[in-house]
Amino acid sequence: MNNHYKTQEQTEQTQPRRHSLTRRGFFQAGAAASASLLIGSAAAAEAGAAEGKISFDSYDVAVIGAGPGGLAAAVAAARNGARVILIERNGYLGGNLASGLPLLGYLDCHGRPVVGGFATEFIDRLTKIGAALGVRRCPHHYSIAVVKPDFCKIVASDLCEETGVEVLLHCYLTAVETREGKITRAIFSCAGNTIEVRARIFIDGTGDGTLGYLGGAACQKGNEEGELQPPSILYTLGGVDKEKFFSWCKENNEVDDDALKYLHESPNWCLVTLGKLFRKLQPKGEWPIAVWALISINRLNDSEICINGPRMLRTDATDPRDLTRAEREGAHQAVAFTEMLKKYVGGFEQAYISHINDTLGIRETRRIVGRKMLRVEEAIAASVPEDTIALAAYFIDIHSSKDFTSKGERIEQAYGIPYLCLVSATYDNLMMVGRCISVDRIVFGSTRVMATCLAGGEAAGVGAALAIKEQCSPCDVDTAAVRRILVKNGGILSMNQTP
Ligand SMILES: Cc1cc2nc3c(=O)[nH]c(=O)nc-3n(C[C@H](O)[C@H](O)[C@H](O)COP(=O)(O)OP(=O)(O)OC[C@H]3O[C@@H](n4cnc5c(N)ncnc54)[C@H](O)[C@@H]3O)c2cc1C
Repeated sequence: MNNHYKTQEQTEQTQPRRHSLTRRGFFQAGAAASASLLIGSAAAAEAGAAEGKISFDSYDVAVIGAGPGGLAAAVAAARNGARVILIERNGYLGGNLASGLPLLGYLDCHGRPVVGGFATEFIDRLTKIGAALGVRRCPHHYSIAVVKPDFCKIVASDLCEETGVEVLLHCYLTAVETREGKITRAIFSCAGNTIEVRARIFIDGTGDGTLGYLGGAACQKGNEEGELQPPSILYTLGGVDKEKFFSWCKENNEVDDDALKYLHESPNWCLVTLGKLFRKLQPKGEWPIAVWALISINRLNDSEICINGPRMLRTDATDPRDLTRAEREGAHQAVAFTEMLKKYVGGFEQAYISHINDTLGIRETRRIVGRKMLRVEEAIAASVPEDTIALAAYFIDIHSSKDFTSKGERIEQAYGIPYLCLVSATYDNLMMVGRCISVDRIVFGSTRVMATCLAGGEAAGVGAALAIKEQCSPCDVDTAAVRRILVKNGGILSMNQTP
């Protein structure tokens, strides 16, 4: 890990870089862009091609990053009358919605719904086309919604098309311009072209808080030692005999009768198992990595499952050297796990790796400091303040960066995420959604799941659209009005809410 880099991040926590550094960063990026333009123009003259700058102006709301947070924000803002542009570096929309992970966080530990609105609409649309099976209770995660990942991309794209969200794919955010306490422009790169986007409100849905960070907004990253939850690489195995796997688990006491019933009731399952095999094989050096169990997520077809097993410890997912090492390590861990499963676990004899995800799943990087910060004490106390814009009830799930252990803390009752956790403390017109909302590091272990990100994203979109209508800053919006719109759309903002 790069200590110098970490020190910079730590400085940010107390002393956000404001105007001057931000502009310096922007002009440095601009200089680099003009340099490449010069080179580009010589080449273009030769090839007869035109290269340059493409501008997108006069948007009410620009959302950067189209994961669950950004997607929900963009659609909700457009539905509420804003002119919205959604910009994404990938060639598809959805972020981790399209990774093969199940959507968690819909129900609390008692099986009661805590999230509705856009999050429910998303799963309902997938279910209608056979790409999901709704939401059900899960013995490991309170609730589960397994999805067909490619269809998440399609539904996300349809939602944007229907609501008039303008989408730009393949655009990588590289610089941010700020002026007089506001973000004024975001700069992207696409195949050598410089893309500039101007909007009245910017929403950071990058997961990494890249928009806020580049703009010099106050950010936090990890704990005092810079520890961050490790990334994982997800991969898919084909050729799995699932019935044989279940029987093997039962015969080897890896599941009990209740778990077996859960697995047989519906293909909508995720299984955390093989702890006993781990304890047997690990001392003999025959379990490839010290992770104590394997998470397998069913794929909604006959023979595939998705494995969430490999973890790459001590990784700062904002450092390209760490990321590069982790991608390589992850692929090797996937191969080693597969060999072990084929050798020791019934049902995997014919298994093969059919797909390793194109990119790591990043659990934790930066969070942007908001006008409010939700603390773990408030979550444990089930605080639901008046300005709650989403409920959350997933357990606090923190994966160690140093070893293969995880810390979990049960959440008995849902808690509320206040609206001002979505508005930057540094910039009036910067909002954040998904992973980078303003929560402390411990409660982040709970708010990071995708149903919660969808719910918070929807609220940010509604807040941004109201700010445009009222011609005020997002932080001055009437939160009661935001809440009314959310509830009208099926949102759940209190456990006592009458339907
Ligand atoms: C290994 C792992 C397992 C998990 N398991 C589960 C699970 O089972 N269920 C669950 O609900 N949650 C799970 N989570 C958590 C959840 O997936 C994430 O916390 C959630 O997706 C965060 O949503 P987001 O919108 O903030 O970010 P993301 O889903 O990461 O989306 C961010 C988007 O921003 C784009 N972006 C980033 N930087 C730029 C840039 N510079 N320019 C342009 N675009 C950019 C990205 O390409 C991406 O599309 C898991 C996470 C990981 C890593």
